[in-house]
Amino acid sequence: MLILFDIDATLITTGGAGVRSMLDAGRRLHGDTFHADGVDFAGRLDPLILRDLLRANGIDPTPETMAAMRRGYGEALTARFQSEPTSRALPGVMELLAALAGTGPTLGLLTGNFAETGSLKLRTAGIDPEGFSVRVWGDESPHDPPARDHLPGVAIERVSRAWGRAARGEEVVVIGDTPHDIACARAHGCRVLAVATGKFSIDELAHADRALPNLTDLAGVMQWLAR
Ligand SMILES: [Mg+2]
Repeated sequence: MLILFDIDATLITTGGAGVRSMLDAGRRLHGDTFHADGVDFAGRLDPLILRDLLRANGIDPTPETMAAMRRGYGEALTARFQSEPTSRALPGVMELLAALAGTGPTLGLLTGNFAETGSLKLRTAGIDPEGFSVRVWGDESPHDPPARDHLPGVAIERVSRAWGRAARGEEVVVIGDTPHDIACARAHGCRVLAVATGKFSIDELAHADRALPNLTDLAGVMQWLAR
């Protein structure tokens, strides 16, 4: 089994530092009026969020403006965490990761984050990204335009190489906090556990195979995973 964890609002919360750091970067590069009005963040890929932010501010998302935003975002997040390390693990996460470490399942990350900023968020919260042997980041969709729905396919390809045989979708579990996480799991026949630790309620996530308020019921989660 491969268990793929989303990062934001599933493993950790940054207390809004991620969004604020993207805005910091936009303001530094494009002026103080740079805003995020009308831009949707939750469960989306960072390259799509940066593209939408640039467009919302009347800036053409070229490879150059996108690269500058990505670099600026990383610098801003690093600076924010140096003065205020607000990233922290959500309830039950540390216990679940400890219970899973060294047992049967392969652990992975499937996230909209870029590698450098996603890793920084995890490390600041005390979680080692290297503890997940399969890591699929927000800019690793093999298609243009990119979509989260493509990412489980990348994870399945990588774990197949690690396992030395073709992994099947039903051997994969996605754990996430948004309807986007549920949809990407469904697109590949993966099981999906949703947690209402982000902006979506249990009711809004009820179409997952299992929806929980958070990950604190360790025995219940382990039992469901083993099913
Ligand atoms: Mg999330």
